[in-house]
Amino acid sequence: MDKFLEWSDLDLHKTTGKENLRCPNCDDVRTNKKDKSLKINHNNGMGKCFYCEVLTFREDDKNDFKAITYDLPIQTWVNYTNIPDGFIKALEDRKIKQFAIKDLGVTVEKYYQPKLQKEVNNLVFNYFERDKVVSKKYRGAGKSFTQSAGTKNIFYNINSVIGQDEVYIVEGEFDVLAMWSHGVKNCISVPNGANDNDDYWLNSESYLKEVKKFIIAVDNDEKGNILKDKIAQRLGRYRCEYIEWQTGKDANDCLIKGTLENELKDKKRFPVNGTFTVEDLYDDILDLHKQGLPKTIKVDNDCFKGGENDKDFNDIFSLMRGHVCTVTGIPSHGKSNFTEWYGLNLANDNDLKLSFFSPEHSPMALHQTNFIQKAIGKPFFGNVEGIDRVTEKDIERYKEWANEKIYLTGSDNGKTPDWKWLLEKFEEQMYSFGVDVFFVDAFNKVKLGGGNKKDEIDAVLTDLTSFATRNNVVIVLVAHPTKMQKNEQGLYSPPTLYDVSGSSDFRNQTHDGFCIYRYFDTPEQKGYSRFFNLKTKMSFQGEIGAHFDFEYDVPTGRYYAKGTDVPRFDLTRPREGEQVEMQIKAMTINNDFDNEVSTIENTDIPF
Ligand SMILES: [Zn+2]
Repeated sequence: MDKFLEWSDLDLHKTTGKENLRCPNCDDVRTNKKDKSLKINHNNGMGKCFYCEVLTFREDDKNDFKAITYDLPIQTWVNYTNIPDGFIKALEDRKIKQFAIKDLGVTVEKYYQPKLQKEVNNLVFNYFERDKVVSKKYRGAGKSFTQSAGTKNIFYNINSVIGQDEVYIVEGEFDVLAMWSHGVKNCISVPNGANDNDDYWLNSESYLKEVKKFIIAVDNDEKGNILKDKIAQRLGRYRCEYIEWQTGKDANDCLIKGTLENELKDKKRFPVNGTFTVEDLYDDILDLHKQGLPKTIKVDNDCFKGGENDKDFNDIFSLMRGHVCTVTGIPSHGKSNFTEWYGLNLANDNDLKLSFFSPEHSPMALHQTNFIQKAIGKPFFGNVEGIDRVTEKDIERYKEWANEKIYLTGSDNGKTPDWKWLLEKFEEQMYSFGVDVFFVDAFNKVKLGGGNKKDEIDAVLTDLTSFATRNNVVIVLVAHPTKMQKNEQGLYSPPTLYDVSGSSDFRNQTHDGFCIYRYFDTPEQKGYSRFFNLKTKMSFQGEIGAHFDFEYDVPTGRYYAKGTDVPRFDLTRPREGEQVEMQIKAMTINNDFDNEVSTIENTDIPF
């Protein structure tokens, strides 16, 4: 159980930065009177003694990103001494030591289990934050599970992060207990198994911000691997390593098998920019050998297939993580509209999160109505051409669908931001929301430095490409072309990346690019929009110079393959065959008990 010192009682000499003090809590028992074991960090208002492990917090410290008030569960955790023998025995079967149970404040409490429809004895994981229990998880017999209602979602064992340079992240409370039993105390667990939600990241931000290195040690199964990538994506892959469990499925499993110590030695790195030996890249090379070329990000929707086109859209263009993509087109030819429709489909088909910085589309609520029309497939403001407008129910469903998928960035007080500000915002959004694709619409809406314009643009593009590569995200830049010349028929030619205003580096530096060109209605022909692949860095991403023709649906702002029917499907509803999977996903909880055969009928013992 954590102990605490009053911040105001400390003999502090500074108000900013870091300082080390002799610890008033353990000074009496220390023989080395010179050891300043109490490490104070004024930046985040937290301190910890690395001898007696006492914690201290500055009181005025705001630790919530958003001002949400949470209910506190009943603060009855103090009865930890009273764990029945049956529970201890079951935990010891998992090789979990009694000191770990005591240190982490695990308790046994009577509580109503919905699954069993009665009040039973539960093993309780108390989620401590500082000196409070902010949430409780109850485990009863037969894998039953419940949680204190309305309480704060935060990493389990978050106090253990304070003052640490290195932190392990595991996928369940039992794994934290297992690591602690093994002597590894700087270990936290995601609170909801493999579900990656924004709230616990936001609630834990002030604790994780100063950690230098994370070792991700979640379950080695399909869901765990997805979670591992999402965690690394949020924290920045450059400061993450990971453990790929070989002899068991998780930390507790390896503790039981006696292999934990060895497994923890084998930390792997994520591929990021830097210098790599063949050895570093060996696993990746073998993966390429086994699975073929790296995955590109594709759209999987009928409106990007067939019609009058010879090839599917995916055959001529796809994106890749780590790339910057430039989108250009003559004003009013629909480059923003298409880019947003393309983005929504990418997000929906690949489970990606999108962030838009689009000052040209303010106010933001109005911008959202564009997304709603496209996502639902109905007009927003009124019935158009016989199609009913979206209903309030549709908007509510869109909210559910888009809530942890689409993020809009506004500038401070409507001022034009510079690139430094915007990249800092991106970094924040990567952490807080796990954003995968950033859209900037348009490039000239962000302020450049005061130097020569071309040099400034080239420097920004260098920063953006290195940001994308380092963080394994996609950046999409919408950029206007220079003034185009009309040809003999009085039409503009489709612009190329060399025509993008300001610098040829849009062609040279960015990895990918496309153009949207509108052929307007003529007496002979109905208008349509042509997508041109202007550049794909890797040959397997598509075909440079190839095009794909779309028709444009005015009521909804959707694009669909020329010569096919207007798509009326609803992106916010699961597709056929997906229904079941979605439901399971929503209900998934931490499955620590799943590998056990529960034959015990006695509801007083949960294992
Ligand atoms: Zn101390």
